[in-house]
Amino acid sequence: MNLHLQDKVILISGGAKGIGGAISKGLIEEGAIPVIIDPSEKEGKELVELAVGKALHLPWRLFSAEDCEKAVLEAVRAFGRIDGVVNNAGANDGVGLEKGSPEAFAQSIANNLHHYYSLVHFALPELKKSQGAIVNISSKTAVTGQGGTSGYVAAKGAQLALTREWSVELLPYHIRVNAILPAEVYTPMYESWIQTFPNPEEKLAEINHQIPLGKRMTTPEEIASMAIFLLSNRASHITGQHLYVDGGYTHLDRAL
Ligand code: NAP
Repeated sequence: MNLHLQDKVILISGGAKGIGGAISKGLIEEGAIPVIIDPSEKEGKELVELAVGKALHLPWRLFSAEDCEKAVLEAVRAFGRIDGVVNNAGANDGVGLEKGSPEAFAQSIANNLHHYYSLVHFALPELKKSQGAIVNISSKTAVTGQGGTSGYVAAKGAQLALTREWSVELLPYHIRVNAILPAEVYTPMYESWIQTFPNPEEKLAEINHQIPLGKRMTTPEEIASMAIFLLSNRASHITGQHLYVDGGYTHLDRAL
């Protein structure tokens, strides 16, 4: 199937490692041009090399609205257009009700949510021209909870709400907006989290056993395949959807 993504310019926050890295790599394989916004110098450089220059690495962490505006301006300066935005950067920072504070909660929301809004806000004039697509990477924790991580989960829930809200607001421009909810994906972030347990190997085996399809984690590439499809015009009548790419983890019978 030709996804018709050749030369499409796609912004990806956190696009150098983990899920975002797999999305950038998949887009390169499709002939698209990823604009990778991620502080990871080595991985970003490797992706630009893989793309033989048909990619841009912006080696900074998105904090403020200005960072997002600058990323959009750089993308347009380099390639003259934007065809899609993948909001992906985030971290499960463990700001809970007990282990947390109102200030830490507000900071966690800022770190995990504000740049989702700002990147789309500043990219909108270009997305209107291209009738582009937006993919928000959320998390199953938005609908299941996790415990001890109020800020992250509140941001993930808001990303799902914004997916619906933006899909309605952007209907007149034929801009599609969808969300993906991963559950258990082995990435650098996941690796750091699993290492917080006294016996990481045992914990990993326990989690794998609970995943219905194949008793294994979802790979970053499996999330990327969905994201890339949603960015393509093969998904031309899909908008406002929350897509679970999780081997049945969120919905299937726990007794399986
Ligand atoms: P990851 O392994 O930590 O990779 C994320 C990349 O984004 C890293 O290179 C990170 O750089 C970068 N990054 C983080 N914050 C950034 C920011 N503000 N601006 C620019 N770059 C930033 O994470 P992942 O597991 O791939 O997660 C990606 C997304 O999937 C997140 O939104 C996460 O919530 C969601 N998700 C993941 C899982 C899972 O099982 N892995 C499950 C549910 C949802 P540094 O390493 O330098 O911070």
